[in-house]
Amino acid sequence: MKIATTIPEVRAQVAAWKKEGLTVGLVPTMGYLHEGHASLVDKAVSLCDRVVASDFVNPTQFGPGEDLEAYPRDFDRDCALLEEHGCDLVFHPAVEEMYVPNAATFVEIQSDMPKQLCGQTRPTHFKGVCTVVSKLFNIVTPDKAFFGQKDAQQLAIIRRMVRELSYGIEIVGCPIVREADGLAKSSRNTYLDPAQRKAALVLSQAVFLGQRLVQEGERDARKLVSAMEAHIKGEPLARIDYVSAVDGVTMEPVERIEGDVLVAMAVYIGKTRLIDNFVVEESAL
Ligand code: AMP
Repeated sequence: MKIATTIPEVRAQVAAWKKEGLTVGLVPTMGYLHEGHASLVDKAVSLCDRVVASDFVNPTQFGPGEDLEAYPRDFDRDCALLEEHGCDLVFHPAVEEMYVPNAATFVEIQSDMPKQLCGQTRPTHFKGVCTVVSKLFNIVTPDKAFFGQKDAQQLAIIRRMVRELSYGIEIVGCPIVREADGLAKSSRNTYLDPAQRKAALVLSQAVFLGQRLVQEGERDARKLVSAMEAHIKGEPLARIDYVSAVDGVTMEPVERIEGDVLVAMAVYIGKTRLIDNFVVEESAL
């Protein structure tokens, strides 16, 4: 596996592959990789001739007071995992390589979509995500790019950005990978002490509860959300940011569980903000 820290190195390698007629997949990450990231790499390896992973803690997607400095980093361990899963090139730029000084060009969806769900407490987050993903698309020019359903709003926003900015890139969504006890894998789980780790189970428990209620016929979004919230509120270490049922494409709140619906949540466990979700597909109703 090759390691590139500069944009020209990535461009040269991708150009060489394209000259050979090979297809290229991109897996954007912020590093501190786990099995969730590995599942994206596995999917990319299965669908593309060559796979590029980016490993970059993107400052523009963190707001003031968020965990940019504290965000866990272990590049050597990341490289071992990526290589083991068949990644061909890891792009690990410094901030200065990605952002020219005083950069003032951003990519932003100017609708309510990035203001819903996580956008309520992270108002500039998706502007940073769209900007860095656009830059990675311009640098790597992949045929396909792989994103986790774990960050469901991000996935929906990237799909819209790709459509509206005419990126000829196929976006592949990949299912949430969980710990054996249900907790969605996340680099931020490392912040949790043992009591908080136990408390964090309320997120996945609320997901499973919600899925069961929908299966049993609940179609009233407010009742569904209330039942999930009640479960989370039973855990003293948990503080709800939001639990919402929204349209799976637009992220607009829904009243009925009809069509493709995303039921998503963000919950603070201590200072750590964790997210989880499930999708109800129209065909399953
Ligand atoms: P991050 O490094 O947190 O920015 O995540 C990079 C990519 O990995 C994103 O597309 C995430 O949605 C995806 N991802 C993170 N955790 C998981 C997980 N538990 N299951 C599936 N995908 C994940």
